[in-house]
Amino acid sequence: MAQEARAEFNELLAARGVSRRDFMKYCGSVAALLGMSEMYAPQIASAIAAGSKLQPALWMAHGLCTGCTESMAQVGKPDVPTVVLDLLSLNYWETVMAAAGDQAEANVKATVEAGGFVLIIEGSVMTGFDGNAFRVAGKTGLDEINEIAPKALAVIAVGSCAVDGGWVAGDPNPAGATGVSAYLKSKGIKTPVINLPTCPVNPEWVVAILVDVLLEGKLADGSILKTLDDQGRPKMIFGSTIHDNCPRRGRFENGQFVKFGSPTQAADEAAGFCLYEMGCKGPQTYTNCPLVRWNRSLSWCVESGSPCIGCGTADALKGGKGNWVDASTPFLSRSNNVRLPFIGGVQPSTIGAAIGGVAAAGLVVHGIASVAKGRVKGVPTETEKVHDAKKKGGDK
Ligand code: SF4
Ligand code: SF4
Repeated sequence: MAQEARAEFNELLAARGVSRRDFMKYCGSVAALLGMSEMYAPQIASAIAAGSKLQPALWMAHGLCTGCTESMAQVGKPDVPTVVLDLLSLNYWETVMAAAGDQAEANVKATVEAGGFVLIIEGSVMTGFDGNAFRVAGKTGLDEINEIAPKALAVIAVGSCAVDGGWVAGDPNPAGATGVSAYLKSKGIKTPVINLPTCPVNPEWVVAILVDVLLEGKLADGSILKTLDDQGRPKMIFGSTIHDNCPRRGRFENGQFVKFGSPTQAADEAAGFCLYEMGCKGPQTYTNCPLVRWNRSLSWCVESGSPCIGCGTADALKGGKGNWVDASTPFLSRSNNVRLPFIGGVQPSTIGAAIGGVAAAGLVVHGIASVAKGRVKGVPTETEKVHDAKKKGGDK
């Protein structure tokens, strides 16, 4: 970057109370989040600093609680992500922008006409009542999506409601809420969709993806699309389970679980026992929450004592029928058998009771297949339905 431009950018950082050192550190964490070496940080820094060349973006709100916008607002002030968001050409973000009415609509029109923009959608697509379940600027939300999405370079669906319909699509779903991918597919709109589930979306992921898409040009060369899984989620964020990276994992393997109503419940929780018996959906939920964490990396659900309720679970292509709420409730009840290496689908407490915590840990950690198969042979397993029918409403 030219000396003059660098000085100007450093001034911009200083005006927001951000040091160059903090900025470079943040660029390193964005690189790590995107699955790149931290050596790549200077290139990310240069791209961010050259923000004037950005592709514009429109942030549209549909069936939502505005929690994802609120989550974005908590990235920190002053903080590096705020600087990044300031630099992005977000030409429309109705919940937070100053413009309103005709002026706001003119911003949308001008951006769409100019082309080369990215469409960010927060909230579910409301198909009920011929689309009248959600109206904006005198038209239905469906009209808005039908008109804008085909012209966008890509759509980023932020938060579980945009990905699979989320809470809004929970049974019986009278408003016909569904996810963006499923809706666009039903209309034959082929614009690529990048799905970022969780409720709300993690702002660090959004900033990292915007850096990748808008600053690094990975949309233009198509490389970002090769990093998506079959649900349209970036693999570097959604490639491993919560359980894989959970600090309570050792307790799980030792068969040490916090249990509702147990006389030692509080002590077990404080000691870091596993929350699986409390309904933790970590084994079947693919996100890197334990690594990136929440609230400016302060903590995350399991660390603060709550089981993961599976808000990162999504089935984007099933739309409203694949929403994470229906898939994960009852939240505080064990819902699935867990697949352990060399053992298959079992309830972990069953293993703990049958072969003892230390033996279970040994089996899982060292993966001695023959021993594992022999030791667990004949151990009864519970399926989700059998378990829920017995417990009705959760472990109490
Ligand atoms: S079940 Fe939940 S609390 Fe237990 S180790 Fe897995 S992710 Fe962590
Ligand atoms: S830990 Fe689970 S419930 Fe918490 S944000 Fe991540 S996916 Fe959602």
